[in-house]
Amino acid sequence: MPKNHKYIFVIGGVMSGVGKGVATASMGKILQGKGFRVNPIKIDPYLNVDAGTMNPTEHGEVFVLDSGLECDQDMGNYERFLDMDLTDESYMTSGMIYKHVIDRERSLGYRGKCVEAIPHIRDEIMRRIVHSAETSAADISIIEIGGTVGDYQNIMFIEAARVLHLQNPDDVIFIMVSYLPIPHMMGEMKTRPTQNAVRQLNSYGVQPDIIIARSEAPLDKKRKEKIAVSCSIPPANVISAPDITSIYEVPVNFEKDRIGEIILDELRLKPRRASDLARWRAFAAKIKRVEKPVRIAIVGKYFDTGDFTLSDSYISVIEAIKISAYNAGRKPSITWLNAFDYEKDPRRLRELKKYDGIIVPGGFGERGVEGKIRAIRFARENKIPFFGLCYGMQLAVIEYARHVAGLKGAHTVEVDPATPYPVIGIMPDQKKLLEREAYGGTMRLGVCPALLKKKTIARKAYGAVVARERHRHRYEVNPEYIGALEKAGVVFSGVSPDGKLMEIMELPLRTHPFFLGTQFHPEFHARPLRPHPLFNAFVKAALEHKRR
Ligand code: GLN
Repeated sequence: MPKNHKYIFVIGGVMSGVGKGVATASMGKILQGKGFRVNPIKIDPYLNVDAGTMNPTEHGEVFVLDSGLECDQDMGNYERFLDMDLTDESYMTSGMIYKHVIDRERSLGYRGKCVEAIPHIRDEIMRRIVHSAETSAADISIIEIGGTVGDYQNIMFIEAARVLHLQNPDDVIFIMVSYLPIPHMMGEMKTRPTQNAVRQLNSYGVQPDIIIARSEAPLDKKRKEKIAVSCSIPPANVISAPDITSIYEVPVNFEKDRIGEIILDELRLKPRRASDLARWRAFAAKIKRVEKPVRIAIVGKYFDTGDFTLSDSYISVIEAIKISAYNAGRKPSITWLNAFDYEKDPRRLRELKKYDGIIVPGGFGERGVEGKIRAIRFARENKIPFFGLCYGMQLAVIEYARHVAGLKGAHTVEVDPATPYPVIGIMPDQKKLLEREAYGGTMRLGVCPALLKKKTIARKAYGAVVARERHRHRYEVNPEYIGALEKAGVVFSGVSPDGKLMEIMELPLRTHPFFLGTQFHPEFHARPLRPHPLFNAFVKAALEHKRR
């Protein structure tokens, strides 16, 4: 154990989906404000080795770190709230742990012992948590255990936390994020599910030190006292966490119940400075003030998914737009448009005129592709600001190739391997991986530099010569067509240092006010207090378009 390092374990009670990730990120923000360096860790109990092989409409966005690790969307919340670039040490899944232990067993790493969940899996979890703390140079690790108390899947992680606490009673605390329902027919807030969740946690040998009580409404004194008595904690350690409109207000709200001081008390720490969340507070206050909208449409393949799953699947894109909109003093209004509608009825494309800007986000496969291409063409021909992210950029290249460069039938080999003009192709190393069905963790992943061309939208936006952005894709602009595309008017304003990979495409300002696509995912680097330059430029162009 690194000396003086403190550990906060965050565990869910009652049910999932009540904002444990945002609560964890918010506590981190508050502790940062009090002068501590924090190290957030997310634990996902599933057996996938990483999140890369999961369907985002079922499991939420796949977030990508600088290193290229594909992980849970909560990691994006941590990065946005804490303004940190996290490392692989901040993430673990059951799959990673088991794979490591089993691989070690296969190479006789346990020297003839019988390898079992207890102690070997538990010890590997503890080793990783301590290793993360050691390598982080932080003062406090905040570890969010995925799932809810009572799940079978996360028991091993709770057990690891229990033993860590047993070994270091002064340095480890537990926080339960619970939920208090207010059934409509009663109109009264019920504490019983929380009591039961705490009892269940107690049965594992763990007592929470603090309970964050999520609910539709704030907790009254009576409820706080009831939870305190039944769950054996002081009433002050029951934190009221009512629903609010913006997640960015959560740290401000938590502080109303003095959660920062309480955590530090429990950890036997003194604040290192008077809370300094001034910039964050100003940002959260601005969100409430903005009135005039900026209307952004996101055109994608949305089938049988509700708005709820969509906002989870594209959370970083949404947050990047919102952050830049707030920054421009505007209220972000985001509309999902189903690309498939434009395949069925191209007349519907006219609805795009209602928006100030259009985004085509990342994606895979052929569904909705022709509709997206039609939307991109409409944006280009009607001079509506357009921003393509990864697949959105590839489809913009295809659109331009087909309709301007005269390459009829141009396509990506991902969708049409027999296209006469494979303007989006696959590199030989990627091809080999696909032949072996080696899909997990093998895309082009993580941060790669792009050199920015002078006098372009990209260069002006970044105000720098190099952009370093995160990638997650297999296909690339085919080098064989770069010449033809450039001749037809495409400007590749961001290119890999070896000149081979096209990272940003744009059209000159004289032909279009803002038509830009990135092979990378800029949304992963957008932070509330450091909005992304390309999203800023896009929102600015959208507002100018609106004025016209
Ligand atoms: N499907 C495309 C590729 O693999 C784009 C991926 C993405 O949008 N993340 O290259």
